[in-house]
Amino acid sequence: MREIPGAWRRTATGAGLLGPDGSPAPTIFAEMTALATRTGAINLGQGFPDEDGPAEVLDAAIAAIAVGANQYAPGRGVPALLDAIAAHQRRWYGLEPDPERDVLVTAGATEALAATILALVEGSDDEIVVFEPYYDAYAACAALAGARLVPVPLRFPDFQPDLGDLARAVTDHTRLILVNDPHNPTGAVFTAEVRAEIVRLAHRHDAIIVTDEVYEHLVFDGPHVPIATLPGAAERTLSISSAGKTFSTTGWKIGWITGPGDLVDAVLAVKQFLTYTNGTPFQSAIATGLGLPDAFFTSIAQTLRGKRDLLGAGLRAAGLPVSTPAGSYFTVADATPFLAAGEDAADFCRRLPGRAGVVGIPLTAFVSREHRGAYASLVRFAACKRVEVIAEASERLRALA
Ligand code: PMP
Ligand code: GLN
Repeated sequence: MREIPGAWRRTATGAGLLGPDGSPAPTIFAEMTALATRTGAINLGQGFPDEDGPAEVLDAAIAAIAVGANQYAPGRGVPALLDAIAAHQRRWYGLEPDPERDVLVTAGATEALAATILALVEGSDDEIVVFEPYYDAYAACAALAGARLVPVPLRFPDFQPDLGDLARAVTDHTRLILVNDPHNPTGAVFTAEVRAEIVRLAHRHDAIIVTDEVYEHLVFDGPHVPIATLPGAAERTLSISSAGKTFSTTGWKIGWITGPGDLVDAVLAVKQFLTYTNGTPFQSAIATGLGLPDAFFTSIAQTLRGKRDLLGAGLRAAGLPVSTPAGSYFTVADATPFLAAGEDAADFCRRLPGRAGVVGIPLTAFVSREHRGAYASLVRFAACKRVEVIAEASERLRALA
């Protein structure tokens, strides 16, 4: 009995999931939201909207609960949602997944990523190529699966990968190329050239492409292009998305995967022992959401684009150089002008509530320890907040100067 907690602790330490004091390290998002709550600062850290999404979707969840959709959903997902996901892929991208074979509903994109990585990584020789900085769950899931993460750097301010770096990262050891496009935390949308190179390398080295497209409807400069739509890509690509960002329902945790049936089956084999299934009434409601008219989807991108511009202008006016994101909730600012001697972005973010009443997230939280130096002055701010909140945060940031 006494050995079990110790064993757990050793395993979690090896996977980097425990903090220096041996207790579970909170994610950077939890830490910074707690800091905002404690200090009363404006939370431009954790990416969640401060307004509800479409009433049709909220009402559909209430109606589903009222008519008794309150027990386990089928393991693959509620049939209406499987159909709606397939129809969404057809309507927006011309993809034709079979709703019964090629679609799987998951507990958010997070479970989709975890189950995919656990299912498809075979051994410690397997490598996962990621674009760094990367969403924090990628490294944690790779560690749980015992795979090695191979990062390809993205550099401020355009955050596009160098094609030479990419080609060197993908080898015959590469099991997965994990692509987050639009990208968190940088807001980058990859160029057509980068997307094509990913597919070419996946073919050459027989790797599987896994895409995290949770920001698919939050793009500002033209339509989102899923890698699965490129020639020769669909047969080796699993595409992951989530309702959280599109419908402002991050707390519902409804996500999904589409792709070749045999790969989806492998993911289901793991997923059924993680959550088995989740959120029956919310699944029904997201089926309603995915069926909303095109105008809904284009309007959320337009609204967020306006907020991106407002946040970017506010940060610039405060004296912070910024990148101009082409998608996602996020804008990256360079805090160099306001760093004290020896201070990095993490120190800056911990002091920012006291200095200006605002919370952001240091980019160092999205990179491996040995690469922190290259991102040490960069801070991510979220634009998915009400216009008046962004305006007030901008006003407060002027205090920095
Ligand atoms: N991937 C990325 C890039 C994200 O930003 C997030 C969080 N918003 C997720 C995955 C997790 O999505 P979910 O909340 O659906 O699990
Ligand atoms: N995806 C959100 C972000 O990047 C946070 C999700 C979380 O807290 N795990 O801010």
